[in-house]
Amino acid sequence: MIKAITGTKDILPNEIPNWYNLEEIVKSTMNSFNYKEIRTPIFEETRLFSRGIGEATDIVSKEMYTFIDRSETSVTLKPEMTASVVRALIEHSLDKQFQLNKFFYISPMFRQERPQAGRFRQFHQFGAEALGSTSPALDAEMIILAYQILKKLGLSNFVVKINSLGIPSSRENYKSILQDYLKPHLHNLSEESKKRYETNILRLFDSKDERDQKIMENAPTLIEHLDEASLEHFNEIKEMLQVAEIPFEVDPKLVRGLDYYTHTTFELVSGSVGSQSALCGGGRYDLLVNQLGERDVPGIGFAAGIERILLAMENEKVISETQPQIDFYIVRLEKELTKKVFEIATKLRAKNTVEFDYSQRSVKAQMREANRLGATKVLMIGGDEFQRGTAVLKNMQDGSQEEILLAEIK
Ligand code: AMP
Repeated sequence: MIKAITGTKDILPNEIPNWYNLEEIVKSTMNSFNYKEIRTPIFEETRLFSRGIGEATDIVSKEMYTFIDRSETSVTLKPEMTASVVRALIEHSLDKQFQLNKFFYISPMFRQERPQAGRFRQFHQFGAEALGSTSPALDAEMIILAYQILKKLGLSNFVVKINSLGIPSSRENYKSILQDYLKPHLHNLSEESKKRYETNILRLFDSKDERDQKIMENAPTLIEHLDEASLEHFNEIKEMLQVAEIPFEVDPKLVRGLDYYTHTTFELVSGSVGSQSALCGGGRYDLLVNQLGERDVPGIGFAAGIERILLAMENEKVISETQPQIDFYIVRLEKELTKKVFEIATKLRAKNTVEFDYSQRSVKAQMREANRLGATKVLMIGGDEFQRGTAVLKNMQDGSQEEILLAEIK
């Protein structure tokens, strides 16, 4: 039997109401912050991601779904959205039309990671990107936006973690300080971290290896070595979050995996979903647009994992049980009336959700089906009533019945 590919999953009809609910809350909250939806293609030229996200990142070095298409172009299924949004901004010169562009998206993403609870190979993210301002108000706004969406979804067991990675010069300076600290410990580091020491030293803070973690516990942090302007930017964000009464923690070890971040990084981390606990991650990327399009447009954004959020909602028991609504189930009392039932159903479907029996079942079986589907009303077509041009309407909630004129049914 052919099955869905490892790490992908079907979202079955009974789960769809939860997705609709989440998407509605995302859309309305994004709208209230004046973010406009953008939809970009599922696949892009590979070099967009390798250049945009960075060769040394996990995503680019080992997780992308990349293939050569029939015209010998290397294409990649999008592993994240920021690079695509930036490409679209440059390609359509949106930065020349508006000083500030605020986008949001809801989209599938693809990464060939090791599947586990909360980690898939096709998963879905919603997120926001704001391009055109370096104001710390925008950093604070992004964090508040993500926070509000999770709150509106009913989640409460999560924390907001923030950090600053400063500007490249202060970061380079810090990297050499970190290297000096790590040099005597090199032989004790895990193999992965030994590699990262050379390629992406900040990621050592993300290591799950206990030996690494022990060494990193006493490592000097970037925030202690921030330049003055970056520190001021960071302090302003903190003040704004305090004013907005958003609880947060400064986590000096929050470096995140992507190369393009400058200044702020943040994560919203759940206490309800096990080891894959990051619900949402984001940060500022003032240099990315230049890297991709040689234009200076600062930006900031976040992405949140929908499957993980739904899992957290389930674990926190805040998923509301929504029954699929059937307004009318039409029961046919005589077989010959199938065409009439079809005609009435079609008319009623202009304004209602309507179902009937397609398989010539007995009246009893049709009533059972109406019950099973949770129909609010059953319309019985046939018998003497039909001869009189009427039908019996049964209210399934209180069991009451009335005779109504077929011509007047709406
Ligand atoms: P990132 O783009 O890596 O910063 O991820 C942002 C968010 O997307 C994470 O906080 C997760 O909630 C979600 N996410 C990332 N990778 C996966 C994955 N493989 N499966 C499910 N969710 C993911």
